[in-house]
Amino acid sequence: MTVPKEIIIAGGGIAGLTLALSLHKHGIPFTVFEAVTELKPLGVGLNLLPHAMKELTNLGLDAALIQRGIETKEVCFFTGHGQQVFTEARGRAAGYNWPQLSIHRGDLHKVLLEAVRERAGDDAIKLGHKCVKIEQDSDSVTAHFVDPTGMPLPSVRGSLAISCEGVNSPTRVAMHPREAVPRYEGTTSYRGTTVWKPFLSGASMFYLGTREAGKLVMYPVRNNVDAEGRQLLNWVVEVARPGEDTSRDWNREADISEFISAFEHCKYDWLDIPAVLRAGDKVYQYPLVDQDPLPFWSQGRVTLLGDAAHPMMPRGSNGASQAILDVACITKCLHNESDPVSAFKAYELARLEPTKRVVLANRDISPDAVLRLVESRTGGKRFDKIEDVISKEELADWQERYRQIAGFSVKELNATSADKSQ
Ligand SMILES: Cc1cc2nc3c(=O)[nH]c(=O)nc-3n(C[C@H](O)[C@H](O)[C@H](O)COP(=O)(O)OP(=O)(O)OC[C@H]3O[C@@H](n4cnc5c(N)ncnc54)[C@H](O)[C@@H]3O)c2cc1C
Repeated sequence: MTVPKEIIIAGGGIAGLTLALSLHKHGIPFTVFEAVTELKPLGVGLNLLPHAMKELTNLGLDAALIQRGIETKEVCFFTGHGQQVFTEARGRAAGYNWPQLSIHRGDLHKVLLEAVRERAGDDAIKLGHKCVKIEQDSDSVTAHFVDPTGMPLPSVRGSLAISCEGVNSPTRVAMHPREAVPRYEGTTSYRGTTVWKPFLSGASMFYLGTREAGKLVMYPVRNNVDAEGRQLLNWVVEVARPGEDTSRDWNREADISEFISAFEHCKYDWLDIPAVLRAGDKVYQYPLVDQDPLPFWSQGRVTLLGDAAHPMMPRGSNGASQAILDVACITKCLHNESDPVSAFKAYELARLEPTKRVVLANRDISPDAVLRLVESRTGGKRFDKIEDVISKEELADWQERYRQIAGFSVKELNATSADKSQ
């Protein structure tokens, strides 16, 4: 058994690698143990909200991320008929001190990985180490690992352990053995990417339709991917699929025939949506599943962070963003508290309630859910004037309520200085 007096980070995804960089900045020793043997640029696109970009800026990653992603300028909302409900500025265009960034998850992961290796050395990440159990006594933790064939690897002792193992975290299961099974909403999502010409502003994100009839979210995540100046467009379709599906595998492939019929009519002068979907690369299916918020995440010297702590439905661009906020908080707590167990409790106290509110908001009052309200008021029919259906104030209030819940209201966020202590 090796005996490092350091923090064991289980999981080298977005949360685990951001945590590594944050601890490294504060001189707190750590090692990341990741289950897979090779870190590949997996997934499709995601959005980093301005509060998460603030934290990534504090870690000196903003330039590298902005270079790879696209600063989102606006978000547009359309009904399933393609009628525009409203458009709202985002990121710096909305007055934030930090951008909102649309980026391929693989690009984000690569930037984090390269930074960890460059700053902390190759040894900071141990691949092929799947954590299966974490034990603790009064002054240490012992993590047990297996390799990809299931063969046991030498156990590792450390001072503390943080599970960044994502939605299927075994540490969460061990901490909450009687937790209910994941909650399936009755909707499944299909994710993909397509190389296409820029649409609208070239930095626009749009929501179209509702999950009952078929919903689409689309935004560009890479600029100039070829000589014609095309972009890589990320898209996510949500469609109602009654039944049970709690299989949370991010790499499950699917076929376009499972959802294309819901969008055949969506041919607009600004974008031929069925053509974009048809021209896509691989399609991945993921059920809209979350879990009821937990009563606690920390048990002595072990805690949960990111998706392991608060799996949420991927709406409102908060999956990665909330994980990054967790990192900023836990590092601050470890820095400020002399007793690490108290630090974990302080972190839990600070982050449990805010993330609980986001998990619950993502079920019914996420930014795009305003389109369900419009749909219910129009009975799914076309409208003559949107003002007859919903006022500008109500539309603005809907978005502001979500920003308040998720902690990225522009005035409040800008009022916080770029906290250099993180
Ligand atoms: C392959 C993949 C593709 C994804 N694609 C998308 C996407 O397209 N869009 C989107 O919005 N979100 C996607 N996500 C989820 C998104 O990354 C998270 O919601 C968010 O970034 C929070 O990150 P996290 O680090 O908590 O979890 P994750 O990013 O899921 O990272 C968890 C990490 O822990 C590792 N791990 C799991 N169990 C163990 C264990 N027992 N021991 C050691 N390591 C372990 C995993 O291999 C993974 O690297 C994807 C996640 C994964 C793993």
